[in-house]
Amino acid sequence: MKHTECHLFAAAILLSLLSTSVSGFPFFFPNASSVPPWFTPNTTPPAWQSFHKFAGCRNGEQVDGLGKLKEYFHHFGYIPDSPSNFTDDFDDTMESALKKYQQNFNLNATGVLDNSTIQQLIRPRCGVADIINGTNTMSSGKSAASTHSLHTVGHYTFFPHQPTWPSSRLDLTYGFLPDNQLSDTVKAVFAKAFARWAAVTPLTFTMTDSYSMADIKIAFYTGDHSDGEPFDGVLGTLAHAFSPTDGRFHLDGAENWVVDDASKSSISSAVDLESVAVHEIGHLLGLGHSSYGDAIMYPTISSGTKKVELWSDDIEGIQLLYGTNPNTNITSSTASSRETGSGSSNGGVHGVGRCWGLVIIMALFSLLLTL
Ligand SMILES: [Zn+2]
Ligand SMILES: [Zn+2]
Repeated sequence: MKHTECHLFAAAILLSLLSTSVSGFPFFFPNASSVPPWFTPNTTPPAWQSFHKFAGCRNGEQVDGLGKLKEYFHHFGYIPDSPSNFTDDFDDTMESALKKYQQNFNLNATGVLDNSTIQQLIRPRCGVADIINGTNTMSSGKSAASTHSLHTVGHYTFFPHQPTWPSSRLDLTYGFLPDNQLSDTVKAVFAKAFARWAAVTPLTFTMTDSYSMADIKIAFYTGDHSDGEPFDGVLGTLAHAFSPTDGRFHLDGAENWVVDDASKSSISSAVDLESVAVHEIGHLLGLGHSSYGDAIMYPTISSGTKKVELWSDDIEGIQLLYGTNPNTNITSSTASSRETGSGSSNGGVHGVGRCWGLVIIMALFSLLLTL
């Protein structure tokens, strides 16, 4: 091949690789230390990082950009009505939204943007709202579940009207968007996440190659993907899923997804895939958010941490909807005794994801182009 042809060939392949990644081809890393430094968002700060400048802000004040925080509260259900654009005034609407948020996250409901509140606000989180159509899905013990006298101490919640998979559909299938071309290693992470819920319920989950026919449809997207819930780049919202029996499970393709070992991360943008998957499956089965910080259904997760064990709160909630697994008979009380044990012992998924290979290939072609 002549020198120029070689250049053209390399350029064509690089372009096609780049265009695939732009359309939402997600990147995976075998562990957090394998995320290369140039993947950290130096030029684009993580979503919501700018909220730091609101520290100490209170009613009656006006700060540039405060309207963005109102949009945030609107997105997660704390401000129900959306004007054409939010003002930068810290008004009564803002204060009442903030107090509700602070209550849901077990913070002092001061109505002031103190440091602990800001820290919680900027933490990466699930895109599903905490207040849905006026129903605060996080108000502990005040949800639909509270009408059940045995569950007044539960922090778990359900979606409004308590949608579930019907008893005739407890053997569910899941499929992956073919365009994402996920490796078996990545698919195995989802299988592990499903198995955690299957262990405590009569539900079963089986992978199918037919994405269009699957009960649960798993897809990585970036930005706007036509369901009214656009993703926002690195950190911010990580994923969202719809209540039964919709089955859509979307993850933000812009995250640095780690398939194992996220707890040892030194990269601030590393997000543990299994932790997010276990949480979103809870939504797919009918659970709302919990205000109990240790629960899987708590809305936020710090980047670089792994949190995959169902807590007694999660188990109590899901078993109220579906009952126990007749084979394992794990209940929330047996799970509680596990929780006092020696912590998680997750086997982990080993091996290098095919996308890591892709990064190397792209780097090699970049090198070729410079020759
Ligand atoms: Zn969620
Ligand atoms: Zn979506």
